[in-house]
Amino acid sequence: MFLGAIAIKAGPLDLTVVYPVNEQRLQPVDSTFIFGSVEPGSNVSINGSHAAVHKDGGWLAFVPVQPGRFEFVVRAQKNQKIDTATVVVNFPDPPHFSLDSLYFLPGSLEPAFPLWVRPDDRIFVAFSGTPFCHAFCVVENTGDTIPMAELPPQDYYAGRSIFDAADSSRRATPDSLFILGIYKGVLTVPDCDGDELNLTYHLFPPPFQQIVQRVKSHPDIDLLPLQLHKLTSFAGICTKSQPSGIIVLPDNPIQVVEFKDSLTTIRTGPGQGYLCIFQPAGIRAELAGREGPWVKLKLSDYQYGWVPDTAVIFLPTGSIAPGAYIRRIRTVGGRNSVSVNVDVSPTHPFQVLEDPEANVMMVRFFGVSSSTDWIRYDTADTMIDHIVWSQPEPGLYELKIHLAVERLWGYDASYVGNEFQLNIREAPSARRTLLGLRFVIDPGHSPDPGAVGPTGLTEKEANLRIALRLKKDLEREGAQVILTRSDSSALPLYDRPKIAVREQADMFISIHNNALPEGTNPFVNNGISVYYYHPHSAALARAVHDALIDELDLPDFGRYYGNLAVSRPTQYPAILVECAFMTIPEQEALLKTDKFRKNISHAVIEGIKDFLESQP
Ligand SMILES: [Zn+2]
Repeated sequence: MFLGAIAIKAGPLDLTVVYPVNEQRLQPVDSTFIFGSVEPGSNVSINGSHAAVHKDGGWLAFVPVQPGRFEFVVRAQKNQKIDTATVVVNFPDPPHFSLDSLYFLPGSLEPAFPLWVRPDDRIFVAFSGTPFCHAFCVVENTGDTIPMAELPPQDYYAGRSIFDAADSSRRATPDSLFILGIYKGVLTVPDCDGDELNLTYHLFPPPFQQIVQRVKSHPDIDLLPLQLHKLTSFAGICTKSQPSGIIVLPDNPIQVVEFKDSLTTIRTGPGQGYLCIFQPAGIRAELAGREGPWVKLKLSDYQYGWVPDTAVIFLPTGSIAPGAYIRRIRTVGGRNSVSVNVDVSPTHPFQVLEDPEANVMMVRFFGVSSSTDWIRYDTADTMIDHIVWSQPEPGLYELKIHLAVERLWGYDASYVGNEFQLNIREAPSARRTLLGLRFVIDPGHSPDPGAVGPTGLTEKEANLRIALRLKKDLEREGAQVILTRSDSSALPLYDRPKIAVREQADMFISIHNNALPEGTNPFVNNGISVYYYHPHSAALARAVHDALIDELDLPDFGRYYGNLAVSRPTQYPAILVECAFMTIPEQEALLKTDKFRKNISHAVIEGIKDFLESQP
């Protein structure tokens, strides 16, 4: 997870610190890990506390730290020899708050600008300022007052929600790292299209009794009554205005954007999660707003989506607006595949969903209505049982494709001219042989090293050696194997899935070895994990994960849905395997052995065979 790492020095016991590096800026946490290597058989301590040393010389410790500039003093001793190393790092000070004055934290005012909205849109207004106060926001042009409430203390460090133990006594964030004083409200945009709105934010102290009540509701936070009294001594209201206005878009004429990238992702909010992936260039959608570098699209009456402003062209007024009817659908059978062809003119955004339980694929077209009278089935095709269309919302057309095959293997959705084509791939029939299957194996990282182990082994090297072993073993089983890289040459992340699509992979496996974000305890969070993105890859992830847990004597770090670039292509089952932890001395030592690589390769192949053999 982090980039490494230059060992800082070598003395009489070859003591090195691989991580953290001198003068590194780290996340705000109360404890973090430090690791490196030393002459085997030495005793190592960090700031006075003991660290176990592996027989290969790797050591790892999880130690308490303090905000600001912090010094790790590492001391090694063996017989009469002593070696020391010092690493100075910077932890940001905890999110600052003060009760000495009424203030707004610079740069904390939300929403972001430029901001384009429509009447009745809901937008969040927020800022950070003096905690335990009252706040509201005024729309200057209309005089509307928006109440704002102080949020419960916010956790500054988000990593623990997924990586740490569920047990709260082991959580990574100390109470001192909670953020206080975030105020939030909701503004419904008034009906004044074409106008510019100006917002002013206000903050004032409540009566002392109210402050005491609010502090009591957060027993974690330790404040002296004397400090709180200060708050009530401030008279009046502190105000701050947004430097620029909110543009209210006119209802007419509507504005249209066209996607210029071929791989645009539509998100659920500015910078938020994925709603639709792989949208081709040329698709049109109605512009509904803008927030900073994000453009808001009206997809249907109830569905909105966001794309980066760099991904679209703003079309001139009077361009053909989105909106189309779907009249005819036909299926075209192919060799081990079937294509569902739908005329959509002009081309519109779409979303493909899988429901493996029901053996159904669903395609949603946004901005589209039904006038569907005909669905023609290719009688040569045996993969599709029947197709059902529906119009669940105005501007949302939905196709449910009921499959006759036992398992969905993968699919490809694209526009060819104005024709939407969903090409569905048939799974190989149940079997336990890899003969003739085409694998793309991706050794993660390079040119970046990935994670680095205590004795300096890089993840990119460990991944490559496992991938080479897996290639050899898969080929022995009669499979074809393409490696995304077969040496330490550079290969950008986004080129890796492109290789697999181009090579028409039957399966894709990305090989990695793990490390944790700062602040996470490596002694309770480590081991094997497997990741998938699409439902049709979940069974492969489960089978490979189960086989790795069975065959390797390592802790189980879990099976995950993960939105990862390499697992997003739709054409084949794709997983990412984090075999072991680079940062754990025992696991780094294992990764250097042929035996461990052989065991990983064997387990992955057993998992693939279990997946092939099982049918839902
Ligand atoms: Zn990695």
